[in-house]
Parts: sequence; structure tokens; C-alpha cells
Amino acid sequence: LTQLFRPLDLLGVVYRTVRQGLIDMAAMFELIDTPAEVEDAPGAPALIVRRPSVAFENVVFGYELDRTILHGLSFEVPAGAQVAIVGPSGAGKSTIARLLFRFYDPWSGRVTIDGQDIARVTQASLRAAIGIVPQDSVLFNDTIGYNIGYGRDRATREEIVAAARDAAIWSFIDRLPDGLETEVGERGLKLSGGEKQRVAIARTLVKDPPILLLDEATSALDSRTEQDILATLHRVSANRTSISIAHRLSTIADADEILVMDQGRLAERGSHAALLRADGLYAEMWRRQQAARSRDALSSG
Ligand code: ADP
Ligand code: MG
Repeated sequence: LTQLFRPLDLLGVVYRTVRQGLIDMAAMFELIDTPAEVEDAPGAPALIVRRPSVAFENVVFGYELDRTILHGLSFEVPAGAQVAIVGPSGAGKSTIARLLFRFYDPWSGRVTIDGQDIARVTQASLRAAIGIVPQDSVLFNDTIGYNIGYGRDRATREEIVAAARDAAIWSFIDRLPDGLETEVGERGLKLSGGEKQRVAIARTLVKDPPILLLDEATSALDSRTEQDILATLHRVSANRTSISIAHRLSTIADADEILVMDQGRLAERGSHAALLRADGLYAEMWRRQQAARSRDALSSG
């Protein structure tokens, strides 16, 4: 019996790890079947996105019953807006992303997209509407072309090449002897962190979702690669609704609105300039990061 249960245990571990990392849901479905935690309501309709607005309405949530993580969180992201979420580690930023992708349901309150409660629509339609670029992208042990194209059924070669171009990874692929047919991953070509992030961005472009969710998508990269990828992400976000969770504040200073999370609550919100004027938590985080940057500049120059 124990033998029998071992593989299931292992899948549980994989599932939790994957969920923690907020890896693209599609990647998860390749590993295991539908997760048990949330289910489609019987006869649930598909999400219909006309204007991709997102709202959290009084959301209360925790992972364990005796510990509340989000304490009645409310905010809205208008369709087409670029909103950033910042705050100290452990503030609940990734939890917001996990709830929006419906890895979990809130204890109370609701999350809506274009006015529809995401707990009442099919998970497939919800996840089709959202493109995620996580902190560490994971590639399948398959070709680089497959890795870019799987976000959508029957992506054509032209679409894959165009997306790779937009994500600034095409010249790299084009120089490989096998091009898009190059095997990547554990048994194939190893890509750097920056290259993997670009593949993830290209994948998101092929998917062409109305809503983009970036969870510290560039924090693992060196600052030059980060600059390159941020430029790409800016271009890609331009005519979509985007939510960027960021560690480095300099990367989100031009967002339409910045939400500052602290201990599961919205501590402040506003533009970069307004938050600096308010001289609260954001201003303090900004000053600390600026000071660290000039220290680095001094020590390296
Ligand atoms: P952030 O992304 O802002 O750093 P998270 O949203 O990941 O923070 O986490 C918020 C809080 O929830 C943290 O205290 C964290 O330890 C806790 N937490 C996150 N994931 C889990 C989990 N799967 N089980 C229990 N607690 C969790
Ligand atoms: Mg996080």
C-alpha cells in the first residue's frame, strides 16, 4: 500500500512546489491532472472578457485556518491600466497573484474580472485570459519552438517566430544549428535565466492574453538583462491590463498606480510621485533602495 501511495505523494510535492512558484498553470497540467483544491461550479459558464478589469473586493484569505494572510483586501485595476504591487517580503503579494489565477478561493469577499466572479466561471476560461511570467520560468524538456508555442492550440511557425522576435530571443534561436527544433531543458540545451525569461515572455505573446501577471519576473536577472527584458515587457503590456509584482521599485516607477502591501493590507496607493510626497512606507523603501544602489555603484566603480 505504501508503495502505491508513493507516486501520489510525489505528485503532491510537485504540485505544492509548482503552485508556490506560480508556474504557468499550463505547465502544471502537463505534470498532473486538475488540482483538487478548487473546482468548477456545476454548469459554470466561461469567463467573457470584453474589458479586462480586475477587482479584489474585501478579500479575506489564509493558507491555514489559524492564520489570516489577506485581511479584507480591496482594489481595482481598470481595463488597460498598468498597476504595480510592491511591499516587504511576506506582505502577501504573490498570494494576490495565486488568488487571481484561482489556485485558491478566498475565505470571503470575491475576485472579479470584467465584473464576473472568477470562482463562478470555468478555470480553463479564467486561465486562458491571464498570461503569467513568473520569477523563474520552467521549460519543458522539448524543443524551444514547443516551449514558445504551447500557450495556444495550433500556434503557427510564423506566430512563434514573431513572438520570439518581440521577446528579443529570435536572434539567439536563429543562430542555433537546429533553430526552433533545438531540444532544451534537462536533457538538451541549457538556457540562462534571462533566456528562459524571454522564452516565457514569447510564450505569453503567443497566448496573447488580455491580462498580464508578472510576479517578480525580472528579479533574478542581472541589471543589464533586466533592463532589456523590462523594455520588452513594457511594450508587451502597452495595450493590456497588467499587474506587476516588483521587488526593485525602479522597475515600476512609471506604473499608472502602485499598490503598497504591508502585512496583508493595502498600506498606501498612488503614483510614484504621489507616494514619494506622502513620505510613508513606499518613500522609505525607495530611499533604502536608492542608497543601496549608490553604494553598489561606488564599490564597483
Ligand atoms: P510576498 O509575495 O509578498 O513575499 P506571499 O504572498 O508569498 O508574500 O506570502 C504571504 C504570507 O503567506 C507569508 O507569511 C508566507 O509565509 C505565507 N504563505 C505563502 N504561501 C504559503 C503556503 N503555501 N502555506 C502557508 N503559508 C504560506
Ligand atoms: Mg512573492
